[in-house]
Amino acid sequence: LFNALETGGLQLHYQPIIGFDGRVLSVEALMRCKINGKEVAPDKFIPVAEKTGLIVRLGEWSLLQGARQARHLLDAGLRTRVAINVSRAQLLDSKFSQALHAALICARIDPGLIELELTESLFMDNSSVVQANLRSMRECGVSLSIDDFGTGYSCLANLKDIPASKLKLDRAFVQYLPQDRRAMAVVKAIVQLGKDLGMTVVGEGVEKQEQMEALRELGVDGIQGYYYAHPVHADALFSWLKENRQT
Ligand code: C2E
Ligand code: CA
Ligand code: CA
Repeated sequence: LFNALETGGLQLHYQPIIGFDGRVLSVEALMRCKINGKEVAPDKFIPVAEKTGLIVRLGEWSLLQGARQARHLLDAGLRTRVAINVSRAQLLDSKFSQALHAALICARIDPGLIELELTESLFMDNSSVVQANLRSMRECGVSLSIDDFGTGYSCLANLKDIPASKLKLDRAFVQYLPQDRRAMAVVKAIVQLGKDLGMTVVGEGVEKQEQMEALRELGVDGIQGYYYAHPVHADALFSWLKENRQT
């Protein structure tokens, strides 16, 4: 993994998040890694990187590459927001804010074109470093998104204090729509709550038309999933955005 980082074995792929109004809300940057010529899935290498602490460097790399991608798109007339995943170890690092600012400056990009995806538990972490990093993210003007909402430990009471503008509903719910009436009820309540709190609500992992239709009916603002687009290489993203240009 370290070699991949040092020798160009890492790449970002991008997956569009599409609003029901037809606009591209953002594109999510997803890391890809080749080790000894073989592609390794993020579900395999991200946990390893987290365990070894290498995720901090991988995350800095993602921030910079993602910001650069936003700049490339802007230079081509595509004002598209890029969403970048941030892991727990990055937020526990006192140099996170420095890395974020460096990425924005190097890429010469408006912070409004960058969105950071964090899981809910991170927003609720009371450690002073995490809180300081969250504050500096807000102050610098990037937008924040709650990733994988509904998985793990969720406390709805906390939602009102989270300074995020987007809530991403995990695939764990979406996959049971629309047949599972109980899943429908839970999603309906979360969507209502998110919207009442002024957030944009996005459904993740949408693979089927019926899931897309159920989410639309439940008032979700946008969707991400194989149904519309798979994560693709930067060049393919470029062509995709040009073809689907409605931003
Ligand atoms: P995530 O942030 O929840 O990203 C969404 C994952 O769902 C991606 O998996 C994406 O390819 C996949 N996906 C999208 N649409 C569908 C669909 O319709 N069906 C199904 N079954 N899956 C779909 P991917 O790329 O394998 O990434 C897995 C996880 O690895 C991500 O989950 C994220 O937690 C982590 N990750 C990826 N890139 C980065 C990164 O740059 N930094 C950090 N810290 N974590 C990353
Ligand atoms: Ca994510
Ligand atoms: Ca997610």
